Amino acid sequence: MSDLKQIPVVAKETGKERTNPLANVFDELIRFAQARSMFMLHYCTGCGAIELPPAMTSRFDMERLGIQPMVTPRQADILLITGYVSIKTLKRIILTYEQMPSPKYVIGICSCTVNGGMYWQSYATAKKLNEYLPVDLYIAGCMPRPEAVIEGLRLLMDNIKSGKSEPWKDYYQRYDYYLGNQQHLFGDDWQTPTDIIGEAEHFGLMGPETEGEHTRLLQQHQQPLEPHKMRLK
Ligand code: SF4
Repeated sequence: MSDLKQIPVVAKETGKERTNPLANVFDELIRFAQARSMFMLHYCTGCGAIELPPAMTSRFDMERLGIQPMVTPRQADILLITGYVSIKTLKRIILTYEQMPSPKYVIGICSCTVNGGMYWQSYATAKKLNEYLPVDLYIAGCMPRPEAVIEGLRLLMDNIKSGKSEPWKDYYQRYDYYLGNQQHLFGDDWQTPTDIIGEAEHFGLMGPETEGEHTRLLQQHQQPLEPHKMRLK
């Protein structure tokens, strides 16, 4: 044990790779616990939502995997998008995603989240979810059965356990790309209350594509957000 204490936790040269075997053991333990205790926020955007009740309840019983529904983004680990996404809804999805604590995971259920599905020609729907948010995996189908949903969740669990599910880092490392697509859809004055660049600094995930022309545009338009006035009538 005393020998292990002498080994640095991360490599001195890069400051990233774990060199201490004990640190790797703890990392594995944490990833195992994360994979087996996930709160899922199901953002029921389309018809695919109808497959969730059977996936959650006694027949398929996703709680036996350690996954259970959660009603607020602040405590959620997984954001489930269950079908076509209108442009108005996408704004709410992004606001919700940004409020979730990292690490966080996104699953797109239904073909409509992959490429617009049967709404591919609609003026009112967003076509590829992964242009606006980092998506961990898609469960395709119109609509996918509960078995497919469970299989997708198991795949996500395996990826988390093996440390492969890290698209949430991409949102920080390539924020300018995601923000650019969001601005293209919602207009140049699009803004959210979350300080993504501050979070990227906090996690040490600032990359060459974190900031760029779109984050500069955001800074020009950014206003302090005012709460809506309560309307009693
Ligand atoms: S893929 Fe089919 S079932 Fe799913 S949201 Fe689109 S139209 Fe509805």
